[in-house]
Amino acid sequence: MRILVVEDDAGIAVGLRTTLQQRGYAVDLCDGVSGAWSALRAERFDAVLLDLGLADGDGSELLRRLRLSPGAGDTAQPPLPDPATPVLILTARDQVHQRVAGLDLGADDYLTKPFDVDELDARLRALLRRAAGRTSPTLRQGDIELDPAARTVRQGGKLVDVSPREFSVLLVLMEARGRVLSRQQIEERLYSWDAAIESNAIEVHIHHLRRKLGGACIQTMRGVGYFMPTEAR
Ligand code: CA
Repeated sequence: MRILVVEDDAGIAVGLRTTLQQRGYAVDLCDGVSGAWSALRAERFDAVLLDLGLADGDGSELLRRLRLSPGAGDTAQPPLPDPATPVLILTARDQVHQRVAGLDLGADDYLTKPFDVDELDARLRALLRRAAGRTSPTLRQGDIELDPAARTVRQGGKLVDVSPREFSVLLVLMEARGRVLSRQQIEERLYSWDAAIESNAIEVHIHHLRRKLGGACIQTMRGVGYFMPTEAR
């Protein structure tokens, strides 16, 4: 899952990136409003962690613009940020009226500094769960069950050993619930700007997942991409 961290304190930003990467997220950093707006136009993020006091403006301004964005649509040129992108405000402003204002402006959640990374991660998981329209904290497809909190995969109740990248590919495919995703769409969810991507990395991960979970669990739609057949198919 791809996270945009908008934070002007370099120490906090780099610390957040390291922590979130260790927990399997792809993380991109922006230190201001204008850079973040450009990033949101260029890429789709699964969530934004937004500081409010930024060098070139206030994070609330970015949030306001994001929520008013008409979105990508079919014809928007250049593309505009997705107004439904989940936003968690992460700020030192801890007064009740400030938290209320942030939430009323369109933030999905609000956490004050200093924060606990376990709580931040749990809130992020909740945000991603709601954004995907899931009610259950775990994802299930056929006999495969994925637990984003424990980062485990089970098949028929038995633990399956998958690498962190394989876990991420599986999570992205399961969140898509039967939709076909192109290789590029999967890559975008998995890699930040600065990550070096082997051209066939996704194919290799999918090959390994098929070996571990059974060949039929991930289907290829030739020339289009990959999908996990839902039970109804
Ligand atoms: Ca700040």
